[in-house]
Amino acid sequence: MSDFLICGGGVSGMLVARGLSRQGASVHMIERGSCGHEASWAGGGIVSPLYPWRYSEPVTALANRAQDAYPELARALTDETGIDPELTECGLLMLDADDHVDALRWAQRHGRPMHAWLSTQIYAREPGLAPGSERALYMPAVANIRNPRLIRALAASLQAHPAVEVSEQSEILRFETQGARMTAVWLRQQGRERRIEADAFVLAAGAWTGQLLEWLGLTLPVVPVKGQMLLYKADKALLRGVVLSNGRYLIPRRDHHILVGSTLEHAAFDKSITEEAGDSLRSSAERMLPALSALPVRRQWAGLRPGAPDGVPFIGPVPGFSNVYVNAGHYRNGLVLAPASADLLVSLLTGTTAGLDPAPYDPARRGIAPVSRS
Ligand SMILES: Cc1cc2nc3c(=O)[nH]c(=O)nc-3n(C[C@H](O)[C@H](O)[C@H](O)COP(=O)(O)OP(=O)(O)OC[C@H]3O[C@@H](n4cnc5c(N)ncnc54)[C@H](O)[C@@H]3O)c2cc1C
Repeated sequence: MSDFLICGGGVSGMLVARGLSRQGASVHMIERGSCGHEASWAGGGIVSPLYPWRYSEPVTALANRAQDAYPELARALTDETGIDPELTECGLLMLDADDHVDALRWAQRHGRPMHAWLSTQIYAREPGLAPGSERALYMPAVANIRNPRLIRALAASLQAHPAVEVSEQSEILRFETQGARMTAVWLRQQGRERRIEADAFVLAAGAWTGQLLEWLGLTLPVVPVKGQMLLYKADKALLRGVVLSNGRYLIPRRDHHILVGSTLEHAAFDKSITEEAGDSLRSSAERMLPALSALPVRRQWAGLRPGAPDGVPFIGPVPGFSNVYVNAGHYRNGLVLAPASADLLVSLLTGTTAGLDPAPYDPARRGIAPVSRS
């Protein structure tokens, strides 16, 4: 029997598994499909919230810690697995923000480099952008990470760890409880039902975490928010860094792929792609970077963000249970926040110091409630 059983193998679950196993705990992680192939694969991999000063302090606190932790994480994963997640400090250029004063004050308060630029600086940095931008905010230290490679590296590292068992293609069907303790999960694996016990359980099932909690008679205000993305491939670098305008962004990868994101759609658990979203993303992208109009779209996809109120994730114990914890609801920032939220949960689980106040993320204080029977 493992010390911890983790429900959900996205970036949130995988980093908790990594943190616990590095503290000497045994971990069993259960994933319905392949590890990391839901939101954690679908995301863009910008290692910063968009317009970061508009988020609340709890999001900023996690984001700052995680941004500082990413270089070491990327290096360690590359060394361990030979898979480089391509963390690239490429900068974030925001063309449309009109709240420059608030932004610059925020950046100074948090020690995050940010510059207010005029058109000469904008076009010196990114000559391919469409003309007409007169002001921008630029954050030179923001990175992007190639998230499909990050999850491949995390999965490889976990699979190689002797104290970690990973069960993929294994859907959790229900929980078994005894009083205030969860005792086991039931899952479907290769057409058969299987029961697995553990000492403690972590629910990290992204947009599906609320469904899991319903089996415990609780509701969690985490809802799926669909995001669609497009992919272009150029034969040379068209951009140096991430560019954001009117909520849409372009992300250049090292091999000249350019990702375009993203839509925000409330469509329950529907992950289908639509022509309308594709046209809208394409027109935003070509308006920002006209050279894209000569290139075909290589791919369009959709993922489900785990949307939580104000984008603040739920991290901590599930009320009413002595051995059930949650790490979910990272909404648009799950890739950037993941290392810091995993660290916080691991510190709560192992009784070590997090260096971060857990109260703002505590599920009991933030709207987890018994399912209403009326
Ligand atoms: C289009 C788009 C763009 C984004 N861009 C960015 C970005 O640039 N930067 C950023 O920081 N964030 C971004 N995000 C957000 C980020 O991707 C998510 O917040 C993050 O990946 C959530 O990770 P997770 O592990 O909590 O959820 P997921 O990655 O969804 O993982 C949850 C896992 O739980 C599994 N699961 C669910 N139910 C069960 C069950 N019953 N049994 C077993 N397993 C189960 C699922 O199969 C899944 O693998 C973006 C998201 C989208 C969709």
